[in-house]
Amino acid sequence: MTETKKTKIGFFGKQLFGAVAINIITLLIMTALLYTNFIDHYKNDLMNTMASRVGLLSDSSVSALLFNDQQSGEDILLNLKQNPSIRYAQIYDRNNQLFAEYISTGEVIDLVPENIKNTSFFKGNNFYNLQQVIRDNEYLGFILISANTNTLADQKKHYVLIATILLLCSLVLACIFNWKLQQKLSAPIKDLINLVVYVAKYKRYHKRLDNKSTDEVGALILGVNAMLDTIQINESKLYERANYDELTKLPNRHLFMERLSQAIKNADRNKTGIAVLFLDLDRFKIINDSLGHSVGDQLLVQVTAKILPMVRLSDTVCRWGGDEFVLLLDNVNNSEDTQFIIEKIVEVLSSPNIVGNHSLHISTSIGIACYPNDGQDAMSLLKHADIAMYKAKAEGPGKFKYFNTSMVDGSVKRLTLELKVRKAFEENEFFLVYQPQLTGSTKTLVGFEALIRWKCDGKFISPDEFLPIIEEIGLMYDLSLWVLRQACEQNVSWQQAGLKPLSVAVNLPASFILHPESIEKILAIIIATGLAPEYLEVELTENTFLDAREKAVSVLNSLVDLGVSVALDDFGTGYSCLAYLQYIPVKKLKIDGVFIKELGRNEANEAIVKSIIMLGKGLEMSLVAECVETQEQLSILKDMDCDVIQGYLFSKPLPADEATNFIIESMADNR
Ligand code: C2E
Ligand code: CA
Ligand code: CA
Repeated sequence: MTETKKTKIGFFGKQLFGAVAINIITLLIMTALLYTNFIDHYKNDLMNTMASRVGLLSDSSVSALLFNDQQSGEDILLNLKQNPSIRYAQIYDRNNQLFAEYISTGEVIDLVPENIKNTSFFKGNNFYNLQQVIRDNEYLGFILISANTNTLADQKKHYVLIATILLLCSLVLACIFNWKLQQKLSAPIKDLINLVVYVAKYKRYHKRLDNKSTDEVGALILGVNAMLDTIQINESKLYERANYDELTKLPNRHLFMERLSQAIKNADRNKTGIAVLFLDLDRFKIINDSLGHSVGDQLLVQVTAKILPMVRLSDTVCRWGGDEFVLLLDNVNNSEDTQFIIEKIVEVLSSPNIVGNHSLHISTSIGIACYPNDGQDAMSLLKHADIAMYKAKAEGPGKFKYFNTSMVDGSVKRLTLELKVRKAFEENEFFLVYQPQLTGSTKTLVGFEALIRWKCDGKFISPDEFLPIIEEIGLMYDLSLWVLRQACEQNVSWQQAGLKPLSVAVNLPASFILHPESIEKILAIIIATGLAPEYLEVELTENTFLDAREKAVSVLNSLVDLGVSVALDDFGTGYSCLAYLQYIPVKKLKIDGVFIKELGRNEANEAIVKSIIMLGKGLEMSLVAECVETQEQLSILKDMDCDVIQGYLFSKPLPADEATNFIIESMADNR
């Protein structure tokens, strides 16, 4: 601001001023040169005129001087009266005595001639000419004449007047011409300046200048246009990058928040509602980790392509990050509108996705928060949709839940638990307990299942509660490695203590099994602890084969190649398709506890258990019943020829030292 105040005259004003000033200076110099030239000329003319006039006088005065005729000398001089500029004239004889004289009225003699020589000069405002009168080389005297230079002064005045008028005219013309010329030349530059000011002020880069000239300004315009092209392209790229997800081309969270805030304003104005849907794909991490990011990416693109047609054009589908999507449903007037879209999304996502040669089953958990009831601003709506999504996820894959305020408490609890779990992991607060497995027939101890335990604030938290958190915060892989190593070390220490060699089963989740380095790490732990591989058993659940079955089967084969045995845990509750059983190298089925609990109470259930046992036997597998709590359950299982029994009836999961005693006692019993 101060800058512009300081320089009131703009650039073009200064340029015009400069050009006119240069014009004036040039004109002045030329006028001055012409003036001095003119004056010199005029003086020379005057001198020549006077000299020839004096020459004539000297010729005419020869006879007067020769004959000493003063009267005719005076007469000759009197003729000068006709010329008003002559001040006076004098004729001197050869003795330098005044011979004749003429003095114009009012004039005085102001020069005393000495050392006579031919000369003419100016002195003050007057002109003097002195000439000798000579005849046939005989000096007769001399003539002195003085004239005023009034005509010269008049001429000077005249000249100055004309020069001034001319100068003024030139000045006006110079101003007009320069101004016009400058206007013509600077027009494209002014356009450029306007363009630059516009761009700087509004940050909009779509305008361009017409360019017709090929001169430097033309080149400048071309350059600026090209620069704006580049900026515009970069700007749109930047805008894309800042607002859209590169993979799915969906709006990102930044753009989503903007749209949500705008939608809230519109909803207020139009008295309508908004629904925010928070989607989190189930089991995506496992697919991504096991089949690689490129498969994961393609799956996300396919999911996007499935979701997009389910919403209206005015709705926004955003990739919130990772496997999370957020939907903004605008103009929602009743819950049926939302419900309809949610059901469509759940349905469309349930069909398998073909990525390469994988058929991937993916579902999504959805949390819904509605405006205005569930939050007054974009942030709280989103947070509440997220909380509802967690609630939905806790109920299993493919579920959706509408937010309600009672969920907030739960979510705070969950967050607190998450922090505690992280800390527990860092500070190594977890430990293992070992639950004995005995043969059904002879009650011989054949092995243990290692189960994780965590005591938080003085009370035990169930693994079913904290393990999903471990999975979600990405610690499951490391935790599984820890469990593996711990169980192997414990088993080795039992064997080194001379106890009966037993196998210890470790629960490994799908996310660990499908991890690209799982086999390497298991082998490394076996080598590091020195455990013979046949004493390690890995318990898997059916969901390991849900996606990426080939990969899972190849990992299992590698495990079997290492000499590790594999058991299928929680059998009967998961995968409904049994065909996969023939492809997997599993030698043990663990019948899920829910079936065991009902034994003796429910005939249909008994039939299921019986079928499972027959199926297992048919596939040459050994069968384990878990959660066996009663003698009745035990005897039914024995009748069904179940091989191994695990449950509170024989023992709860035991801390390592108690497990040691259990082995010692069992060895004594069997002696
Ligand atoms: P699971 O693999 O099915 O383990 C058996 C669960 O049944 C254990 O629960 C065990 O304590 C419990 N149980 C054993 N006998 C009886 C019985 O007679 N009656 C009843 N009611 N329950 C019995 P726990 O220890 O709470 O573990 C729950 C689940 O957490 C396990 O189910 C397993 O899926 C998972 N888990 C436990 N430890 C680990 C671990 O180290 N790693 C992994 N990835 N998962 C683990
Ligand atoms: Ca288990
Ligand atoms: Ca189980």
